Order: sequence, then structure tokens, then C-alpha cells
Amino acid sequence: MMTSLLFATGNKGKLREASEILGPDYELVTPAQFGITEEIPETGETLEENSVQKAEYIYARTGADCFADDTGLEVDCLDGAPGVYTARYAGEHCSFDDNMEKLLAEMAALGPDVPRTARFRSVITLILNGEKRFFEGCVEGRIALLRSGVKGFGYDPVFIPEGFGGKTFAEISEEEKNAVSHRGKALRAMAAYLAK
Ligand code: IMP
Repeated sequence: MMTSLLFATGNKGKLREASEILGPDYELVTPAQFGITEEIPETGETLEENSVQKAEYIYARTGADCFADDTGLEVDCLDGAPGVYTARYAGEHCSFDDNMEKLLAEMAALGPDVPRTARFRSVITLILNGEKRFFEGCVEGRIALLRSGVKGFGYDPVFIPEGFGGKTFAEISEEEKNAVSHRGKALRAMAAYLAK
């Protein structure tokens, strides 16, 4: 039986990844299909708070089974920044390019020998029959000196995951990314829970 789930995102890249990972048993619907076109607020101080806030916002307006994810890029030499500010690192309505430029500039300012280790961390909040469940996923890697690749979205051109010979997320296939990515892991944990 096909399960319908509302995914609290307007990001087409995330939606495609999630459909790919959850497979044909799940029909993902978007807030826009419920007439929700405004930006979903995320004003929390942690990924967990934002993920809950987004899921609750959608649930309060639709009553539908739904989930939301919140992702942060945690860079060690920047004390975990941009973290919860990953989406708006370079300003409220900045582009992916603006964010990457700022990140590379901040790290360059620390000098050539600074450790470049980083990780993406995703927290998913699922609201099923009114009850909340949480799932988390993380991928370790490092920040490249320059952007490479055109696939994916967000910070993919500057994130080098462990295990791909130095390629960025934007240089590997969607299947390869999904197999190791923060959101891939969190989504598979959610899918395993849903299958029970
Ligand atoms: P969100 O708040 O969960 O939408 O994610 C915050 C920001 O993290 C996004 O705007 C992207 O810039 C970045 N991000 C999330 N997931 C990925 C990813 O898989 N690759 C690259 N950047 C990502």
C-alpha cells in the first residue's frame, strides 16, 4: 500500500533525494500541494528545535502525517559554524554561492594550515498519527579549498565526504551521495521505523 507523507520542504533537491531513498512505497507531497506557499519558520537555536518547529508548523495547518528535516554543516576550525545558520550563513536571502564564498573566505582567513574537517548533520522530525519521532544522520568529511562539481545543491561543491578519493558531493552521483549522506542515513532510519 502506498503511504502518503508530507515533506516540509520547498527544496527540489531534497525532495528528489528523499523520493529516491524512500522508494516507490511512499508518495511524497509538498506544502505547496496543501496551499502552504509561505516560508516555513525556523527560528530555533539547534537543528533539533528547527526540525520540530517545521514539522509542527506543517502539521498544525494540515493534520497530515508529515516530516521535516533540518541540516547543519559543522566546520571544526569555525567552532561548529555555520551549524544552525547553514542556510543563511551569508545573510537572510543569500544564494548557495554566497554561502560557499563566505565559508571559503572565513577559512582562508585562518591561514593555510587550519584543519578542514567538517560534517553534515541532519535531524528529521516525523509526526505520525500526531506522535513525534526523531531520526538523525551524519557524514564526516572536509571542506575543499575551491568549489568542484555541478551536481547536488547547497554546499555540495565544497564538501568532500570521506571515502570518495577527494571528490566533492557535487562530483559524485546522486546514488553515491544518498548512500552516505546525512539525510540519506536519517531518511533510511525513518523508513526502517515506518516499515515496522
Ligand atoms: P535546511 O535548513 O535543512 O534546509 O538546510 C540548511 C542548509 O544546509 C541548506 O540551505 C543547504 O545550504 C545546506 N544543505 C543541506 N543539505 C545539504 C546537502 O545535502 N548538501 C549540501 N548542502 C546542504
